Amino acid sequence: MTRLTPPTDHDYIVLGIGGVGSAALYHLAKRGADVLGIDQYPPGHDKGSSHGDSRLIRLVYFEHPDYVPLLRSAFELWRALEVDSGDELLKMTGLLQAGPAEGEVITGLLKAAQIHNLKMEQLTSEAANRRFPGINLKAEQTAIFDENAGILKVEDCVKTHVKLAQKHGARLKSGQAIGWEQEKNRISVSVGEETLYCQKLVITPGAWAGDLLPALNPFLEIRRKTMFWFDKHLPQHQLHNNFPVFFVEDEGHNFYGFPAMDKKGVKMADHQGGEVISSPAELGDSLDASALLKTVGALAQYLPDVGDHLAHYTNCMYTMSHDEHFIVGQYPSSANVHFVAGLSGHGFKFATVLGQIMADLSMTGKTQHPISFLDPDRFQI
Ligand SMILES: Cc1cc2nc3c(=O)[nH]c(=O)nc-3n(C[C@H](O)[C@H](O)[C@H](O)COP(=O)(O)OP(=O)(O)OC[C@H]3O[C@@H](n4cnc5c(N)ncnc54)[C@H](O)[C@@H]3O)c2cc1C
Repeated sequence: MTRLTPPTDHDYIVLGIGGVGSAALYHLAKRGADVLGIDQYPPGHDKGSSHGDSRLIRLVYFEHPDYVPLLRSAFELWRALEVDSGDELLKMTGLLQAGPAEGEVITGLLKAAQIHNLKMEQLTSEAANRRFPGINLKAEQTAIFDENAGILKVEDCVKTHVKLAQKHGARLKSGQAIGWEQEKNRISVSVGEETLYCQKLVITPGAWAGDLLPALNPFLEIRRKTMFWFDKHLPQHQLHNNFPVFFVEDEGHNFYGFPAMDKKGVKMADHQGGEVISSPAELGDSLDASALLKTVGALAQYLPDVGDHLAHYTNCMYTMSHDEHFIVGQYPSSANVHFVAGLSGHGFKFATVLGQIMADLSMTGKTQHPISFLDPDRFQI
C-alpha cells in the first residue's frame, strides 16, 4: 500500500512554550490534537518575556481600537481557564490612566471607547487623587478610570496552560530548536542532534523570532526592559485588594505601577525606552541605573508615600515590530506553519486568544477572530 503522507512524530508541534505558545499547546490539546510543545527552558522561566509576577489586562485600548474584540475574547478565555484549572489567575483591580488631554493615551482611550461603546470614567487629576489616596497625579494631567482591567499572574498563567495541555494529552520536550524546514509533505524540526517531524508547526518564539522566523528579522527589534519593586512604607491602601494599576503618559515616558501583591512591594517601570539588544543572549541581569533613576523619580511623583528602597528587579524583553502591532499569520511559502511575533511589549493579556487563533489557523486554515490588522502582509514579508 502506498502512504499518502510521510510518517511524522506528531501531527502538530508548537515551538516556544512561553506566554502564547503555552496557550496554543492548550487549545490544540483540548481539541484532541496530537501535539508536542518544545522549549529550551521550563514553563514559567525568567529568560524571555513572560515573567515578573504580573501583567496588566485592560479593555479600553489606546494603542488601536481593533484590539478590543480580541480583548473581549481574551477576558472570557482567561476566566474559562480559571474554571477549567481551579487556579486564580486574574485579579480585577481597575486601571487609572492619565496624561495630557491631547496625548496618545487619553485620545486613544476616548477613540476606542467611542467606537466600541465602552464604559469608563473621565476624571480631573484632583478628583483621581482624592478617590485613590496615595496617588499624586500632576494638576495638568487628565485621568480615565477603566474598571474593566486587572492583573494576570504571568508565570502561573503559563504553567496553568501547560498543566492543562498535558492533562489533555499534549507532550512537552525540553531542548533548543536550531531550525525547521518545510519538506515536501511534512516539516522537520531540529532539536540538538534529533530531528522531529510534524504535519503542522506553530512558532511562538518571543524575542527569539529572528532565529526561527528569519523573514521577520528586518521588522523586529529587541529591547531590554527592567521592572523594579519597592517595598518600604507600603501603605495598606496600596495593596492589590483596593488599589488600581496605574499608567501615566509623562513627557516621553509611560510609567506604570502595580499595587503590591506580596512582600516584594509595588512594581514600577517605564513602558517606553530600553536598550536595543541584538539577541536574547545579551539580556543579562545587570541593573539599568538610568532606568532606575527615572523610575524612582516617577515613584516620588506618583506614589510619594512609597519609599524608594529597591527590593527587587528583573530584566525582560520587548520584541518590537516596526508599527508596534502584533504580527500573526502564516509564514511565507509555508502553508502549514503559523506564527505569532512582535508583541511589542503589550501582548501577554492576549496570550489566551492568540493561542486559540494559532489552534484555529493550524487546524482549519482560518479563524473567526478579527485579525486582519495584524496580517504579516502589511510588511510585504
Ligand atoms: C517588562 C515587561 C512588562 C510587560 N507588561 C505587560 C503588561 O502589563 N501587559 C501585557 O499584556 N503585556 C506586557 N508585556 C508584554 C508581554 O509580556 C509579552 O508580549 C509576552 O509575554 C510575550 O510572550 P511570547 O510567548 O511571545 O514570548 P515568551 O513568553 O518569551 O515565549 C517565547 C518562548 O519561546 C522559547 N523559544 C524561543 N526560541 C526557542 C528555540 N529555538 N528552541 C526552544 N525554545 C525556544 C523561549 O524559551 C520562550 O519560552 C510586558 C513585557 C515586559 C518585558
